[in-house]
Amino acid sequence: MTTDARSLYSQLPSTDRLLHDASFSHLLRQFGHTRLVNLLRQMLDDAREAVRVSQQLPQWHSDWAAEAGRRLNVSDASALRPVFNLTGTVLHTNLGRAQQAEEAVAAVARAMRSPVTLEYDPDSAGRGHRDRALASLLCELTGAEDACIVNNNAAAVLLMLAACASGAEVIVSRGELVEIGGAFRIPDVMRQAGCRLVEVGTTNRTHLRDYREAVTDNTGLLMKVHTSNYHIEGFTKAVSEQELVALGDELGLPVVADLGSGSLVDLTDYGLPAEPMPRQLIADGVSLVSFSGDKLLGGPQAGIIVGRRALIERLQRHPLKRALRADKMTLAALEATLMLYRHPETLASRLPTLRLLTRGAMEIEQQARRLKPALEQRYGAAFIIDVEPCLSQIGSGSLPVDRLPGAALTFTPRDGKGSSLAALAQGWRRLAQPVIGRIGDGRLWLDLRCLEDEAGLLEMLLS
Ligand SMILES: *Cc1c(COP(=O)(O)O)cnc(C)c1O
Repeated sequence: MTTDARSLYSQLPSTDRLLHDASFSHLLRQFGHTRLVNLLRQMLDDAREAVRVSQQLPQWHSDWAAEAGRRLNVSDASALRPVFNLTGTVLHTNLGRAQQAEEAVAAVARAMRSPVTLEYDPDSAGRGHRDRALASLLCELTGAEDACIVNNNAAAVLLMLAACASGAEVIVSRGELVEIGGAFRIPDVMRQAGCRLVEVGTTNRTHLRDYREAVTDNTGLLMKVHTSNYHIEGFTKAVSEQELVALGDELGLPVVADLGSGSLVDLTDYGLPAEPMPRQLIADGVSLVSFSGDKLLGGPQAGIIVGRRALIERLQRHPLKRALRADKMTLAALEATLMLYRHPETLASRLPTLRLLTRGAMEIEQQARRLKPALEQRYGAAFIIDVEPCLSQIGSGSLPVDRLPGAALTFTPRDGKGSSLAALAQGWRRLAQPVIGRIGDGRLWLDLRCLEDEAGLLEMLLS
């Protein structure tokens, strides 16, 4: 070892000295002795390593408490930090899909704090059924006879198939062999459920006779899958649920439908593009309809199956139901969300998903103009800031071709460099509450459709 290195090593403080230093007292109070001792050992190792590798003390050597505080705060940062979703996609799967209504938030907190009547019927003082209360609500909202709730819609599809057609053939149109992001593919789910997929028709055209000709003694189900994340245009033909139900009735086969998103209200009433409704499919005679809790419904992650009582009972009795069932927090949030649908007059203001989807372009543009001056002060030297019209999307596979007119703030680097743009976006992603936009056309776009906390955003971006 060189004399230089030896003298550097001798400058390293002892854990004990640091712990007794006044600068560490607040860290000790906040994080505790055990955690701090472990951290200081690590920091001392890091410092020795720095001396060994580069013959100098680390930069933070001048202030150990500041470095310790920084490291502790980084390691305490939640993996589920709130962000500003300014991507322009309202139901963003990577950002947790639907924002919950305040009523749902309160219901979850209540269910977490105390024992609840989850599988307990106070009237008969006996064991109830965990989906019971929600099933009545769902029947009220969809016209179905009964309902079953599981962890997500992928689980709902798996359970429907496993309980109704394990070991049997399930007939699906080739135009509906959907892949949803995250490896949910209809053929794979079929296999997992123990069903044999029978594909009929072609990618663009499937006729009723295609289904009829594919039916054998071993057919268990006819299935419709909503092509939620793509759209086939041109020379096309699909068989409607109604037609398929007529065939199913004739041949004694149930028809099931995976609706994906599915809306409990008619979105055209709110000036939004139409989306299939579970109520309509139930009225058409479909035996089981499945959809997600956290897509257009605007609730927690859940898979909802509504339909005929006898089939729902089969799902409830199936061993997979126990593995896929929803927990009390999910059920509490879902119940509170569904309750909001009983009061359609206030739905668009109380349900965040619908509130954000129904914001008008004019209102969003005004918001952009309000924010622009303060942002120009802070970022104007390096970026040209404009208010631009833009098209937001609903997301999560809903209505892929229908876009919602809105407005965005755009940041164009004055130096014209992509690296300046990338640095801006990266800086914002690293904020305490990250601000997430999207880069396109040589600019950074902040689509303001999902911005409700204006003051919070300014605080982040101006800090
Ligand atoms: C989204 C979707 C699913 C998966 O639903 P999750 O709630 O994400 O599990 C399945 N099928 C269709 C058609 C979908 O759109």
